[in-house]
Amino acid sequence: MTGYRPVIGGLRHRTRLDERPPDRTSLKTLCEMRWQAHRGPRSPAVGDCEACEEIAETTVDGSAR
Ligand SMILES: [Zn+2]
Repeated sequence: MTGYRPVIGGLRHRTRLDERPPDRTSLKTLCEMRWQAHRGPRSPAVGDCEACEEIAETTVDGSAR
């Protein structure tokens, strides 16, 4: 699963969006963090948000592992 993955505070989060939304769109990451999309230099990601990864794994098209 790819899609829009904003980097917040150095961590790459996941969203349910396929693409980056327009500027100033309010959205929530999978880990329920509120975020407002914006243009501009991306801060480098130092890692993935573990909460988002976990949620993504358990919700991806309902397939059990
Ligand atoms: Zn997250």
